Amino acid sequence: MSKTKPTTSFLDLLPAKAASTHPIRIISPPENDLEPGSISSASWLKSPERRSPNQHIASLKVVCFSPEAANHLIRERVYVAGHVVNIRKDLREPIRCNKCQLYGHIRGVCISDEKCAHCASGDHVTTNSRPNQRLSCVSCGPDSSHASSSCTCSTFKETCAALDTRYPENSMPYFPTGEHRTWARVPTKLSNAPLPLIIYGS
Ligand SMILES: [Zn+2]
Ligand SMILES: [Zn+2]
Ligand SMILES: [Zn+2]
Repeated sequence: MSKTKPTTSFLDLLPAKAASTHPIRIISPPENDLEPGSISSASWLKSPERRSPNQHIASLKVVCFSPEAANHLIRERVYVAGHVVNIRKDLREPIRCNKCQLYGHIRGVCISDEKCAHCASGDHVTTNSRPNQRLSCVSCGPDSSHASSSCTCSTFKETCAALDTRYPENSMPYFPTGEHRTWARVPTKLSNAPLPLIIYGS
């Protein structure tokens, strides 16, 4: 059996204006007690060309070679393009198809008809929805008054709760390791705050 390095991913959010459109460079200052090479990659979740002018935040995905390194970053914060930002664990979240708008699969494997994410109509696609159209959710049915993508959707909330039950790690701020404190359910900042890691877009 081939040995694979454990990788862990997590995300952070920062103002889109500060988020550079250039490739990301990772700099770990020697004062930082994160082991060199702990980070496997850092990339924007949505490529900068696809950002809309109204986008307020950009998400950065950081992948580490070990859960210990990921926990270190969650505890310490990082600098991204001059901003000190907190890191959070990448939780398991429900997947929703952007074709039929139902939960549990993605467009690539969808065998259902396309529906509008705003008004649940099968007559037009989401990008052609009129702004004054009454909101309706495909998952919750015709009596609903929210969009299929809404985070207030009761189907979304039920799906999240089912995932949390299935993956107890979801309700833990750290990746559980042999270290007892990583099993905490509430974030604890226990270290003596060495310099944060710096990630630049340049
Ligand atoms: Zn689908
Ligand atoms: Zn519509
Ligand atoms: Zn709904």
